[in-house]
Amino acid sequence: MKTLIVEDDFLSRSLLSTLLSEYGICHVAVNGKEALNAVERGFVENDPYDLICLDIMMPVMDGQQALQEIRKMEERHGIMGLDTTKVIMVTAADDSKNIMKAFRQGQCEAYLTKPLDREKLIAHIKDLGLIK
Ligand SMILES: [Mg+2]
Repeated sequence: MKTLIVEDDFLSRSLLSTLLSEYGICHVAVNGKEALNAVERGFVENDPYDLICLDIMMPVMDGQQALQEIRKMEERHGIMGLDTTKVIMVTAADDSKNIMKAFRQGQCEAYLTKPLDREKLIAHIKDLGLIK
């Protein structure tokens, strides 16, 4: 599993990276703009991410905007349906309105609220069929 963690908070980023490194390659980005560069590179190199953990509140470009751009980028590369990258939105509980918006619009596959719960994260990744 190739994962991209997009998170501006050092501790959350480190925690996710430690957890998910157990399951494969783990890259990190600190804002949406960096994430888009990483995702684009994945497409160009024909080695796209299987999973993106995307924080919502970030400087430069937030998670909502990054998610929309990632989906547009996939469209441009002809990637649709089941082939699109699975996205788990991660955010503070008080931002649940934003997270639900992305979830209802069908742009992300799952969401998690902080503080991060390892069991929930792993359960989501299993549900998405990324690990056994
Ligand atoms: Mg943040």
